[in-house]
Amino acid sequence: MPNLPPDRHADPDLAARLADIRHRIAEACRRANRPADSVTLVAVSKTHPVEAVAVALAAGQTCFGENRVQEAQAKFPSLRPAHPALRLHLIGALQTNKARDAVRVADVIESLDRPKLALALREAMQKEGRAPAMLVQVNIGDEPQKAGIPTAEADAFIRTCREEHGLPVTGLMCIPPAEGDPRPHFAALAALAARHGLATLSMGMSGDFEAAIAEGATHVRVGTAIFGHRPAPQA
Ligand SMILES: *Cc1c(COP(=O)(O)O)cnc(C)c1O
Repeated sequence: MPNLPPDRHADPDLAARLADIRHRIAEACRRANRPADSVTLVAVSKTHPVEAVAVALAAGQTCFGENRVQEAQAKFPSLRPAHPALRLHLIGALQTNKARDAVRVADVIESLDRPKLALALREAMQKEGRAPAMLVQVNIGDEPQKAGIPTAEADAFIRTCREEHGLPVTGLMCIPPAEGDPRPHFAALAALAARHGLATLSMGMSGDFEAAIAEGATHVRVGTAIFGHRPAPQA
């Protein structure tokens, strides 16, 4: 797979879109008086074929996001030998029975969002002898249908994950409400991270990554704007 020629179905515009997103990230950093390398682009390749990932890799993209463990396992391990700089972030809701597979496949798990999962990840780390970095996902708009630890429980949960379970929590992640201005939510996540001395802030997607950078995002998760529309709705 790693030396596969560019797939004839591969989107020829993908590299151009990637370059455009990188340019917009650099501009947003400049406006925020931040160094351009202070933001990492996580290219969200979920539902897109491994050929699309290969095109992005060839264009210099090394950091990717997937939201399903099984899909990540199918696409990424075979790419690693030829691409040692590759970094895979798991960004989707994680079932406890997938914790071991997640610890094995991911470099960063961004969806640590409940006590049972914290326990499962702790056990998985011990069994696998591997410790991906972890971000606590906060339900920053306290929306009933959304994943993430409720804001009122976030302080205690972050402390428990780090102090009681010894999880390598390096930051926070959020998906703000779809409606309304996301900026106050991004600012709230940044304030929460600062209170806990956490350096990593994963926030901002195709539609709002520039606003997230203005509020301090260190990682933006961009899918559609790079890979195009996804064929099916995401679980
Ligand atoms: C799919 C997904 C993204 C990317 O969203 P786009 O709008 O396609 O950029 C970002 N974060 C999470 C958690 C996702 O599931």
